[in-house]
Amino acid sequence: MTSIKISNLEKRFGDLLALSDINMHIGEGEFFTLLGPSGCGKTTLLRTIAGFYRQDKGDIWLGDELINDVPAYKRNTGMVFQNYAVFPHMTVFENVAYGLRVRKLPAKEIDTRVKKALQNVHLAGYEDRTPDKLSGGQQQRVGLARAMAIEPRVLLFDEPLSNLDAKLRVEMRDEIRAVQKSLGITAVYVTHDQEEALVISDRIAVVNFGRIQQIGVPWEIYKNPSNRFVATFVGKINTFDIVLKESAGNGLRHAEFRSGDQAVPFIVPAAGTEGRDEAVLAFRPEDVVETSQAESQNRLSGILEATSFLGTVASLELNVNELRVVVERHRPKQGDIPAVGSRVEFAVPADACLLFDKKTGDRLREGGRR
Ligand code: ATP
Repeated sequence: MTSIKISNLEKRFGDLLALSDINMHIGEGEFFTLLGPSGCGKTTLLRTIAGFYRQDKGDIWLGDELINDVPAYKRNTGMVFQNYAVFPHMTVFENVAYGLRVRKLPAKEIDTRVKKALQNVHLAGYEDRTPDKLSGGQQQRVGLARAMAIEPRVLLFDEPLSNLDAKLRVEMRDEIRAVQKSLGITAVYVTHDQEEALVISDRIAVVNFGRIQQIGVPWEIYKNPSNRFVATFVGKINTFDIVLKESAGNGLRHAEFRSGDQAVPFIVPAAGTEGRDEAVLAFRPEDVVETSQAESQNRLSGILEATSFLGTVASLELNVNELRVVVERHRPKQGDIPAVGSRVEFAVPADACLLFDKKTGDRLREGGRR
């Protein structure tokens, strides 16, 4: 088991600053995910750890070893690619044995390791098949077995499930996580799929524009985002501009937002809003409370414009005086979902409200930036 430490890393492609100010410490046996939109730099970071790219600044350690000048083939990392990268003309056995033959291991050792790796990915018995007779999921298992067979210090995954259909993706992500945990091997996993990241990771680094936006356990990333980008990229969230007013006591503050031609009063947490008169308000669709009671805090109502039923959740798209707000109903029963065009009443508890700086997007909270 090996830890990975990256400090002050920067990578340029000509004039383009692809990565900057990257600092992270990935623990031994940790499943660590780089999550971000297309072009944010996550693959570049993974490839820099693998040694396919050389950083312009900063250091990378594998365990106690500074590997800046160690070539890729000597870093002993196992890579699993999006397009499987299996060799079509080789059998499953030979595909998995490839890295071991390059390392000139004895035939008996190769045989043992290949069989063990294939067992780990549930492909025992497929040794003599060629990849064209395998499904996408099976081909990716070959890719995973090949990466594991070399007994790498770390496993690196570059969007390994993107080419699989939805059901298989869920199966494979559970399998990848189970294999990684049973071997106790450190893993760095790249994805742009936030749900995949939340499910599979011990910790997540959210990346945007070549910079780390936040590092945390999935719960923290979702519930306690450090800025507006993280809040909107991970999960669904409603956001709109508000004007901040006087204190409402008890750690709360009066606020107001414009909804069509109306100014709607709202109560929000006061933490981090001192000296400010505006902010961006955000709340998650699942945090609203269904209510028609007049005394409820932050009561709103809107006309239902569209619904989507997702099995355990129904998502309702409302028009609240020209503002689009999405709310959710959990475990909806028959008749629970109102007809399009009806009026839906709901309330947003003040403790479900997150506030962000309008310009920088930084989270407003006790003690400022964390
Ligand atoms: P995707 O999910 O689309 O692969 P990504 O987050 O992995 O995106 P990168 O592939 O790391 O993003 O790319 C980061 C930035 O660096 C992009 O602007 C990309 O165009 C650029 N880039 C990546 N590789 C190279 C390269 N070899 N030469 C020049 N520019 C590159």
